[in-house]
Amino acid sequence: MEPVQALQKYFGYSAFRHEQGAIINHVLNKKDVLALMPTGGGKSLCYQLPAVMLEGLTIVISPLIALMKDQVDSLNVNGIPAAFFNSSQNPEEQVQLTTKLRNNQIKLLYLAPERLFGNESKMMGFLKTLPVSLIAIDEAHCISHWGHDFRPEYLALAGLKLEFPNIPVIALTATADKLTKKDILEKLNLKDPAVFISSFNRENITYRVVPKRKSFNQLLAFLDERKEESGIIYCLSRKSTESLAADLTAEGFAAAAYHAGLDNALKAKTQEAFLRDDVKIIVATIAFGMGINKSNVRYVVHMDMPKNIEGYYQETGRAGRDGLPSEAMLLYSPGDAIKLKQFAMIADNPEQSQVMLNKLNDMVRYCQLQACRRQFLLKYFEEDSPPNCGSCDYCLTEFKKFDGTLIAQKALSAVARLKERFGYTYVIDFLRGSKNEKIREEHKALKTYGIGADISKTDWLRYIRELTGMGYLYVSDDAYPVLKLTPKSDAVLKGLEKVMLIESQTVEEHQHAEATL
Ligand code: ADP
Ligand code: ZN
Repeated sequence: MEPVQALQKYFGYSAFRHEQGAIINHVLNKKDVLALMPTGGGKSLCYQLPAVMLEGLTIVISPLIALMKDQVDSLNVNGIPAAFFNSSQNPEEQVQLTTKLRNNQIKLLYLAPERLFGNESKMMGFLKTLPVSLIAIDEAHCISHWGHDFRPEYLALAGLKLEFPNIPVIALTATADKLTKKDILEKLNLKDPAVFISSFNRENITYRVVPKRKSFNQLLAFLDERKEESGIIYCLSRKSTESLAADLTAEGFAAAAYHAGLDNALKAKTQEAFLRDDVKIIVATIAFGMGINKSNVRYVVHMDMPKNIEGYYQETGRAGRDGLPSEAMLLYSPGDAIKLKQFAMIADNPEQSQVMLNKLNDMVRYCQLQACRRQFLLKYFEEDSPPNCGSCDYCLTEFKKFDGTLIAQKALSAVARLKERFGYTYVIDFLRGSKNEKIREEHKALKTYGIGADISKTDWLRYIRELTGMGYLYVSDDAYPVLKLTPKSDAVLKGLEKVMLIESQTVEEHQHAEATL
């Protein structure tokens, strides 16, 4: 049977999405694969379809029990025999499952990594007696220190290729920057792997970042036009999910809270109710969403700033899986960043803390961005896109612009004179000729010192961010953010390129309008 026929027969779909077809062909040809696909892109099918087509058993490594259960249930509903080993099973159930596996009655076996290599576990020995044809590693970024969700248990997966040298491995993730990608390939010891990267662009999602003022009123204004629609509202703390859900209920919304501290029965009930549309709004911590497959989520709101772009993108990606227009709104307050900084510091691990802090800084940059949000997000995932997407708050606003070439030249030459070694505050103080003691004597002697005294600090900050957004400057990821020139800077400095900047007045009007919604 051809893969497309099997797709139709077992899953009822008529065509492959993204790179699914190519990925599946590689897997069927027993090649190792790394597949990067956005949330909702259809990763599961990339190993589930080969699993039903190949003889023997597919082992799926997955980090979360809840996620496994959903997947196993939905496979069984489709008539595909799948199962998982779980610590809540009693010995009898485990024996039953073992027998089924021996009799070749299971096509997919889901396992948490710690089960596979656990000290007392005889699992590996047992699995090696079975006709394993494929190993799938879901959420593969968990193996990397550079990822946002490092899980030490995943490191043991390095041993898989030794135990099963001839079995193809497919690793899948929705989030991988360059370092994480490299790390996954190395740590898993993949053999001559084919790497598939699908576009991360979610065209039907509109991205907005709004300055957080009176957040509950802002939320009510947003919901006012979306009363009949389903949405997810993310909060940072468990407590605030509960109080916000209560407040929304009092306003007449069908809202429920969800977080990891609730008991399992209640969590399952809430999820069910959301899937059935009895509950329209889930107010949740990031514990909600993994494995949730509701296609008509129309909006995702972040009441607090997320810790990193990866998480944010994954969470917003839960909107609009059906392809219809959907909204992602984030309420941003600089105070959130300060709070999150404390979380990012992991006491005994300075290296890991630095990774988290850098990711947090990227998140702050996104919130403060004066440029197309989609382009920023896609660039984060190393994808090129046009500078104007037409569907983020920045691209949807008509800003009045003026010829800011001279301002740009001043900013860029200040950065150049300061030898690309300072951050925003210093560069701006220098431009404004601040009498501040911080500005070193040697710098006060430079020609550009004080050439921007006519422009306020706030405006300078905005212009520099805008120049950064346009790619004339960039902010390095050193211990603290440092402004640097880019290959595009030169043409501006030489007067070969005109730079249009946004009139500050229109920015204020825009922010005011968004904040009062
Ligand atoms: P991911 O794991 O990448 O977040 P899933 O594997 O959960 O995404 O797939 C997202 C949704 O898309 C699921 O409802 C799945 O059934 C559906 N889907 C996957 N592949 C196809 C396809 N080729 N055609 C139609 N729907 C698909
Ligand atoms: Zn845009």
